[in-house]
Amino acid sequence: MSKDYRSLRDPNAEYTARDLSAESMGVTDPRGPRDVEITDVQTTMVDGNFPWTLVRVYTDAGVVGTGEAYWGAGVPELIERMTPFLLGENPLDVDRLYEHLVQKTSGEGSVEGVTVTAISGVETALHDLAGKLLGVPAYQLLGGKYRDEVRVYCDCHTEAGADPEACAAEADRVVEELGYDALKFDLDVPSGHEKDRANRHLRPGEIRHKADVVAAVTERVRDRADVAFDCHWSYAAGSAKRLAAAVEEYDVWWLEDPVPPEILAVQEEVTKSTTTPVAAGENRYRVTEHRRLIEDGAVDIVAPDLPKVGGMRETRKIADVANQYYVPVAMHNVASPVGTMASAQVAAAVPNALAVEFHSYELGWWDDLVEETVIEDGSVTVPEEPGLGVTLDLDAVAAHMVEGEELFDEA
Ligand SMILES: [Mg+2]
Repeated sequence: MSKDYRSLRDPNAEYTARDLSAESMGVTDPRGPRDVEITDVQTTMVDGNFPWTLVRVYTDAGVVGTGEAYWGAGVPELIERMTPFLLGENPLDVDRLYEHLVQKTSGEGSVEGVTVTAISGVETALHDLAGKLLGVPAYQLLGGKYRDEVRVYCDCHTEAGADPEACAAEADRVVEELGYDALKFDLDVPSGHEKDRANRHLRPGEIRHKADVVAAVTERVRDRADVAFDCHWSYAAGSAKRLAAAVEEYDVWWLEDPVPPEILAVQEEVTKSTTTPVAAGENRYRVTEHRRLIEDGAVDIVAPDLPKVGGMRETRKIADVANQYYVPVAMHNVASPVGTMASAQVAAAVPNALAVEFHSYELGWWDDLVEETVIEDGSVTVPEEPGLGVTLDLDAVAAHMVEGEELFDEA
């Protein structure tokens, strides 16, 4: 039995301070293309290699916007909870509606975590919607474009885990057969030298093994591909520094999340200790948290996740802060084609975009979810169609829904 989260009382209703609704802000006089109202918001979860929460925002103009939120327990319920704050609002006021949702869900935790994730899905759908209503691509709403093609890096895996030769062979295959010139491998998979994986300490054999993986992969695809390596927040500062130093002699694109995300000073200490470029960001929320990473020099490359961090404008704001510090942006991405295209649209619109991640090369049906081709030869050609430039194939969505989910009710 599912609960109706829309019917819950608005806990902020009795407070009038910082009410960002259209009525309060005096933007209730719709003219021309502004004569449009949000009539409904719905979600459906797809069972991909991650649970992809697709979001649809409906209007009385008959135009529908599609977005995507990162996974997280309660994200669909939070979006349902936010829907009353969007009904009757003008979807073209994307920035105000983002702030409105942040304000209205402050009690639910809109500073960081799944509430921000839920807002991200809605915000992205609003960009798709606004682009369609105005007849412009989403990148145009973000200031225009720097590039026609956005580079995509492929997250790679092998059945043999972190065997150096297996990783090198897979790197070669992904470059030659799939056409990518940018890759990422996990560096935190067991090497056989571990005594205890809980204590965040790397033994000398583990560091040698990881350096062997880095050497094998980077030398195999040398001059054909850039390669990043991900550590998933696994190590203590001392071990992370020794690992970063051990791979300095190789062509590492970046070393990702070598230390846990909570303490900025630890991240900064590791980053500043090495010439190996260090990236982080996928576990941080909104521009505020990324600003601290960037300003403190705690990253060489910042890696926000758009469907989690706050959406398209929030990612653009992060890229803008990063650009002031000459820091490139590599967009973490495990999304369906919808979230991936949202990332590509932002990557097109900022000068300092390095690449967007693709994390589903083993799935087989990833691009069935939309009618368009999204990734080809290791890049996204930025669409010129209004909005995000992807159209959901609802039959494909229905075929891959999480058990118990219902398809969007478009009636
Ligand atoms: Mg990562």
